[in-house]
Amino acid sequence: MEYVEEGPYRYRIAPRGSMRVPGVVFASRALLRDAEKSLEQVVDVAALPGIVEASYAMPDVHWGYGFPIGGVAATDVGDGGVVSPGGVGFDISCGVRLLAADCDRRSLEPVLPSLMDGLGRVVPRGAGPGGVWPVTGAQLERILRDGSRYAVEEGHGEERDLWRCEDGGAVADADPERVDDRARERGLGQVGSLGSGNHFLEVQQVAEVYDEPVAAAFGLAAGQVCVMIHCGSRGLGHQICSDHVRLMDRAMARYGITVPDRQLACAPVDSPEGRAYLGAMAAAANYGRANRQLLAEAARREFRRAAGASLALVYDVSHNLAKIETHPVRGRPRRLCVHRKGATRAFPPGHPELPGDLRAVGQPVLIPGTMGTASYVLTGVPGGGAFHSTCHGAGRVMSRHQAARTVGGKQLRERLEADGIAVRPVSWRGLAEETPEAYKDVTEVVAASEGAGLGRKVARLVPLGVVKG
Ligand code: 5GP
Ligand code: MN
Ligand code: MN
Repeated sequence: MEYVEEGPYRYRIAPRGSMRVPGVVFASRALLRDAEKSLEQVVDVAALPGIVEASYAMPDVHWGYGFPIGGVAATDVGDGGVVSPGGVGFDISCGVRLLAADCDRRSLEPVLPSLMDGLGRVVPRGAGPGGVWPVTGAQLERILRDGSRYAVEEGHGEERDLWRCEDGGAVADADPERVDDRARERGLGQVGSLGSGNHFLEVQQVAEVYDEPVAAAFGLAAGQVCVMIHCGSRGLGHQICSDHVRLMDRAMARYGITVPDRQLACAPVDSPEGRAYLGAMAAAANYGRANRQLLAEAARREFRRAAGASLALVYDVSHNLAKIETHPVRGRPRRLCVHRKGATRAFPPGHPELPGDLRAVGQPVLIPGTMGTASYVLTGVPGGGAFHSTCHGAGRVMSRHQAARTVGGKQLRERLEADGIAVRPVSWRGLAEETPEAYKDVTEVVAASEGAGLGRKVARLVPLGVVKG
């Protein structure tokens, strides 16, 4: 792949063939080498009808379904712009929730094994059904419409959980009628469950603070214990993605759309197919938030029981979502459909959509790393690139299969426990697939994001114990 370095941590792939815009990759030289193959997907995305500015890749970019994971693409709604389910991914609204405990590592130390056992017991995980909140069909309908607002209304949480959540806990424009029976069936028994593999609930400690005033506004201080939850919309989101990829694949010819890869199936935002997908996607996003809300409640109960501690929400943000947002394009404000797939929204200080207590400091950006190394909290910065987006994790360098060949699950657990990290897995194979070596160096990924002007470091978190899906 040919590219030119056009700024610090920024490389440009010039438009050619069917590309309507350039590709822009944010990375260090070393990360760029890891990303090489997925750049073909960055190029393909640049061919989408209505795409503006560039097809962007974050420093953690890797191969995905149609779009790369770590990709950002925005299309102009008023100018034939399309929405593509592959630009959101199968785990619609997969995201991260961070909670801060009112205790530090030293006071938690004696009860950590009991806390981890408790969390391992109460957090439903693995493939298939099982969730902490069994709901009826009518309740599921409310979840699809009102997300974690409904969960909190039903007693599963507190007011702060809503204002500290992206979109106040629920995406407007959810259209549950677009969620068909099969998706509902799959979603019914999974409210409050992790899912498998890459999803986790981790007890962490704030190891380093880079910006104290901002950390304090987020609710974080050095030494403090935290809980990070990573999961999405389970079978419900997956089913919605599959259904709408199929519908759009059939509809494309009718709109005269051709794409370089069938996995980029799409339809104009302003078409029956586009609206149907966005309505269903928003409902799945609400399900995702409610899911993380219920898991946070389960963690709260265990913290109270084992440590007499309570947990306050720092923030909850999705990294697989398409959103209609207004951004300037060539100096004029345009309504864009911003696809972030494996990319985190990072609003700067002063953004009107931020809650009052975060307005002066910017949005908390939650970046998980691995269960053996570290995770980061960043904040959005003024003038942040890629429509105010940044990385969403360390990003895979090894396939699951490759990873599982390098280490056994039991051996990995022993190694992590020897490093002082308590591990509560459900499957040895699943654990091995998530070995820290399967991921890029999160510190390097975050440095590239910061160097490229996509966000600013606020704190580094290290794992004390992990409940793995
Ligand atoms: P994804 O959403 O792409 O599946 O995963 C997001 C990121 O989560 C990955 O790129 C990886 O860096 C991070 N991650 C996966 N497993 C763990 C874990 O057990 N603990 C932490 N802290 N991060 C993880
Ligand atoms: Mn996910
Ligand atoms: Mn995810």
